[in-house]
Amino acid sequence: MFEQMENAGLERLHFACDPETGLRAIIAIHSTLRGPAIGGCRFITYQSEADAITDATRLARGMSYKAALSGLPHGGAKAVLIKPSHNFDRKALMESFGRFVQDLGGRYITAMDSGTLTSDMDSIAHTTKWVTCTSQIGDPSPYTAMGVFEGIKAALKHLNGSDSLQGTHVALQGLGHVGYAVAQMLYNDGAHLTVSDIDQVKVLKAVNELGAKAVATDKIYSVEADVFCPCGLGAIINDHSMQQLRCRIVAGSANNQLEREEHGELLRRRNILYAPDYLINAGGLIFVAMQHAGQTDAAISAKVRQVGTSLSQLFQQADQEGRSTHCIANERAETIIARAALHSAA
Ligand code: NAD
Repeated sequence: MFEQMENAGLERLHFACDPETGLRAIIAIHSTLRGPAIGGCRFITYQSEADAITDATRLARGMSYKAALSGLPHGGAKAVLIKPSHNFDRKALMESFGRFVQDLGGRYITAMDSGTLTSDMDSIAHTTKWVTCTSQIGDPSPYTAMGVFEGIKAALKHLNGSDSLQGTHVALQGLGHVGYAVAQMLYNDGAHLTVSDIDQVKVLKAVNELGAKAVATDKIYSVEADVFCPCGLGAIINDHSMQQLRCRIVAGSANNQLEREEHGELLRRRNILYAPDYLINAGGLIFVAMQHAGQTDAAISAKVRQVGTSLSQLFQQADQEGRSTHCIANERAETIIARAALHSAA
């Protein structure tokens, strides 16, 4: 486990178990050098405890990079709650998790993620003040979607000289909170959509409301499209999908899209422009952090729109240097965090 922590560059890995409520929780803190670590709280089923630890550790680093590149005064963390297989009292379990967060004294601020709802954040808020995304604050997904939409336009502009979506074809994977909102924005601006989701109700909705074409979940990678927009699972850019991709751009909300670091370079070699996940999907974190700091909606939206500008600059640098966008984004984030380390050591 310590080797796993070292490889992920984690500062701390915390565990809590509360048999009374069924809570089994992990909080992975990647860094607090730039401020309190912030990051969502997952509540899903895991095959094993090891899988849950891996999920938390892998995701925490991305949150630090996201905060650093967005200029937010935060470090990154991720919490994972293993969903009990037996009956449980959801409110009591969330309140117990809130006590765990409270014990960390503000080093970690929790938020919504896969499997958690604003009502869960309300329960967590009964026992800690280090929580955001409560029903008073709301779901960050529309802001994540806004950033992804801006990112797709920036990528199109980089390749075509125009950010018009009219007549472009987007293959979108995952029609959840973020994916469906992105699909709606793309459709409203004239894009054609091909979609996949394991949930056929969502697929049917996109077909009926957005004129989308549906394909089976394993066929979405090979759709000939301008953009492949992953908004479902992580690790979808892997050795297998790499062979199938028929797009010019990969730009979507999913976290940890690259199964391995070198897949960023392999995309570049295939002439596929990649919008690094933690940059294009930063809208939700920007919303959460700025809401927590009491900033206005107008200021938050303006900052989320800058996601497109940041990506345009990154695409240009990658072209000039003949390097992958992923590699340059990693370097930029690591430099910002290292600067904070020097500052705190001084
Ligand atoms: P969600 O759970 O609402 O949606 C995910 C969707 O993907 C669901 O509709 C699910 O049925 C679908 N899906 C699952 N497996 C699939 C498969 N094999 N093929 C096709 N579809 C599949 O989640 P969300 O909040 O919309 O987030 C989507 C992604 O974006 C996640 O990776 C999440 O970590 C990331 N993300 C979300 C936010 C946010 O603000 N919600 C912020 C940053 C990153």
